[in-house]
Amino acid sequence: MRKSRIGPIDLDAVAFDIDGVVADTMSVFVRLAHEKYGLTKLSKQDMLCYNLYNCLGLEKEVIDDLISLTLDEEHTKLIPPIAGAPEVLTELAGSTPLRFITARTGADSISEWIFSILPTVCPQDITVIASGSPDCKLGILQRLGIRYFVDDRLETCKNLKEAGIEPLVFEQPWNRDEVAPGFIRIHDWAQLRQWLLPSGANLE
Ligand SMILES: [Mg+2]
Repeated sequence: MRKSRIGPIDLDAVAFDIDGVVADTMSVFVRLAHEKYGLTKLSKQDMLCYNLYNCLGLEKEVIDDLISLTLDEEHTKLIPPIAGAPEVLTELAGSTPLRFITARTGADSISEWIFSILPTVCPQDITVIASGSPDCKLGILQRLGIRYFVDDRLETCKNLKEAGIEPLVFEQPWNRDEVAPGFIRIHDWAQLRQWLLPSGANLE
């Protein structure tokens, strides 16, 4: 058995969302919007709500097309990781198996992507589960015994908190403006590392 408790957090009880937390998925959406639709003024900072239909002022068909392209197998391979995520996850993997729960409908392409950004982590130490819907994450997390979950969708975070799982809100333009007292907010992976592995922690 590997050491699993470091500092105040039981690392075995932590899991991660992928899109918007580990994967900078919306940067691909923005690039496609620029290239395919000439929407060169669009940036991630315009995504002020999770439901893009309510905040971008674009036709539904355009958003549907961009979301579909962004999440397909070809473009999933091209998603850049969020700064610091590969390094911190690789460090964590020395102490605990890594668990990722995504609301995507299929796990194959995003699993391959996770393996690609964590080339030195043994694939057997990585679990990726596709819940198919944000609402289905709770039951999966409960079954896995997860007590802390990092997610960028505030609605999911609220649902988890109600059920006794502590959400760590990974800050993005689409969750910054909503006031959510009592929620732990994470600005970036450097801060998340500090939270998971407080200084002085001795990784093995
Ligand atoms: Mg997400």
